[in-house]
Amino acid sequence: MVLGESNTNKKSVVVLGGGSAGIAVAQALHETKSFSVTLVDRKAYHEIPWANVRAYTVDYSITAKSTVPWKDIPKLGEVTVGEVVSVAGGSVSLKSGLSVPYDYLVFAMGSHFREPLCKGLEGTAADRASEMQLANEKLKAAKSVLIVGGGAVGVEVAGEIASVLPDKQITLVHSKSQLLVDDKPRMSNNAVHWLKKHNVKLILDDKLDGSQQGPHYTTEKGVQIQADIVYWTVGLIPSTAFLKSENILDGKGFIKVDMHFRVEGHPNWFAVGDCNNIPEIKLGYLAQGQGKQLAQELKQLAVSDTFPGKIKPWKLQGGFRAMIISLGKDNGVGHIGPVPIWGWAPAKIKSGDLFISKTRKDIGLPA
Ligand SMILES: Cc1cc2nc3c(=O)[nH]c(=O)nc-3n(C[C@H](O)[C@H](O)[C@H](O)COP(=O)(O)OP(=O)(O)OC[C@H]3O[C@@H](n4cnc5c(N)ncnc54)[C@H](O)[C@@H]3O)c2cc1C
Repeated sequence: MVLGESNTNKKSVVVLGGGSAGIAVAQALHETKSFSVTLVDRKAYHEIPWANVRAYTVDYSITAKSTVPWKDIPKLGEVTVGEVVSVAGGSVSLKSGLSVPYDYLVFAMGSHFREPLCKGLEGTAADRASEMQLANEKLKAAKSVLIVGGGAVGVEVAGEIASVLPDKQITLVHSKSQLLVDDKPRMSNNAVHWLKKHNVKLILDDKLDGSQQGPHYTTEKGVQIQADIVYWTVGLIPSTAFLKSENILDGKGFIKVDMHFRVEGHPNWFAVGDCNNIPEIKLGYLAQGQGKQLAQELKQLAVSDTFPGKIKPWKLQGGFRAMIISLGKDNGVGHIGPVPIWGWAPAKIKSGDLFISKTRKDIGLPA
């Protein structure tokens, strides 16, 4: 069966993935005279990933706002739910056997982690809420918790659990000597101070072999840890496995693009967000920015063959960067440019509502 065939002169754009990047492209191109847009995603809902740490650990009720069925999101165009398995021959093929032809193809499949906390992989918004509820209950029943990874996700997991369930014995193992290694040492020191004050045991400069099954774990340096529940927060995996035979992936599985997001060797293929190899940190607001810029470039392509026209290449994020890590609802650490912030200030900016209202407004939903 073939979806998306039309008799109009509009060019068909198929967007693979409805995360921050894919939604930005689809909404910007929807209802333009030049394009018909089909968004394809393997799950039946959009999810705000930065709400997931709290939702999966201590408060699944926030999924009522942080997961949104596609039909509720305005200006998306046609949405097809299904897992993409191939894009060869001018058509996207889904596992179900459906096929969607395209003139332009946008890869926005993002990334996933081994840890189910991080991203939902399939099913409906109700399925994801049930998964989160079950995870909340398992955590409540556990006495001891092990968190593997001291990046942003691992530190936020420790912060949520320590602030709401202070009776849990929490251990965090991190392979580097500094937590939050991509950020300022001052921010890391503030996080360490808060975590220690909340009885989180930190094991730094040490590793866990991912094949170990609980409840007894041993680190590379021989430290024994007992844990009823474990969160593996390391290892971002680009969701590009089905593209292996296309010769467009770098050694780590990211799609090779130029600074206008055009895929190497394919003039009508583009890739935005976590799944491409643009050399910058993988963050939602950058994925959204890339999606918006690509939409402008495609609009330009519709009126002239000179791609990308006057549009400047994507500007890599420079020295000024803001970062906030929540430590429960009422605390956090971060920096705005070079200025460190901690305590109530980052909590007021992010930790209370985790940017859920802002993100919903960005995609046209009520806060
Ligand atoms: C726990 C956590 C906290 C985070 N906190 C922040 C934060 O505070 N601020 C920030 O800016 N960033 C944060 N990030 C990073 C941010 O979430 C990502 O950078 C962002 O999600 C990338 O958006 P994306 O659209 O590229 O991909 P994704 O959000 O990964 O979306 C990709 C979409 O593609 C779909 N898909 C994948 N493969 C297929 C396939 N084969 N077929 C069909 N559909 C497919 C998926 O279902 C998904 O809907 C966080 C990430 C995590 C995991």
